[in-house]
Amino acid sequence: MSLLSKIINTGVVTEKLDATSAPHRFRGAMRAGKQDCGACMACSETCPTGAIVIQNGRVQVNDKDCIFCGRCIERCEAQLIKNTGQYKLATLSGSLTETAGNELRKKIRRVLNRSMHIRHVDAGSCNACDFEMAALNNPIYDLQQYGIDFVPSPRHADLLMVTGVVTRNLTQALQMTYEATPTPKLVMAVGACAAGGRTFGDSYAIRGSVDKLVPVDIYVPGCPPRPQALLYGLLLALDRL
Ligand code: SF4
Ligand code: SF4
Repeated sequence: MSLLSKIINTGVVTEKLDATSAPHRFRGAMRAGKQDCGACMACSETCPTGAIVIQNGRVQVNDKDCIFCGRCIERCEAQLIKNTGQYKLATLSGSLTETAGNELRKKIRRVLNRSMHIRHVDAGSCNACDFEMAALNNPIYDLQQYGIDFVPSPRHADLLMVTGVVTRNLTQALQMTYEATPTPKLVMAVGACAAGGRTFGDSYAIRGSVDKLVPVDIYVPGCPPRPQALLYGLLLALDRL
C-alpha cells in the first residue's frame, strides 16, 4: 500500500515539450549584443573551438561549434556576450528546407506516417551526448509518446542519430551503417562534435564533422545537447512542432 500511495502521490513526471525549460545553470546559446564592440578579439582568442567570428565590429557565434563553456563571457570586458539558456537550436540542412527538400519531407511524412525509428551511431563521442540521448527513453522525456523509438539495426531505421566527431577508426562503421539504412532516411548530427567537428581540434585520428562523410539533414548543437534539444530536432524534421 505504501508503494502504491507513493506512485499516486508522485503523479505524472513526463514533461510536455512546450512546457519544458532548461534549469537556470544551463548556459544555452551564446548571443552578442547588436552594438559594435572594440574588436579586441579577446573572445575569439579564448574560444577553444573557434566558434566566434568578429566582422565589422560585430560578434557572431556559430552554434554548431559552440560548447557553451562560457569563456567568452568571462573574457569580454564590454560584457556584450551573454548566455540565453536557449536550447531549441536544431537546424535543418538544405536537403530538408529547400524546394527539393519539401518533396523529400512530404515523402518522409507519407512513408513514416508520423512515426520514426532511430539507430544510434557513435562515431567517436566522449559518451556525454550518448547519455543525453539515452535519457530520451526515461519517463521524463518518454520518447515513445511521439511514436519515435530506438531500434538495434540500421535495416529497421528511418533516422541515424550520430554522436561524436568522426574518428578514423569509426569512419567505415558510419558509412556502412548509412548504406545499410533503407531510403528515405534522415541523418541527425548530435552535439558540437558531430555538427561542427572542431571540438577536439585537428588530429591524425579525426576525420571531422559527420557531414564530411555522409549527408546530414538535422544539426543539433550543444555539448552535449539536452534531451529536449534532441526532441525539438526530431519533431522539427518530422514537421510536428
Ligand atoms: S561559450 Fe565557449 S565555445 Fe561557445 S563561443 Fe564562447 S568561448 Fe566559444
Ligand atoms: S559534443 Fe561534447 S558531449 Fe558530445 S561527444 Fe562531443 S565533447 Fe562529448
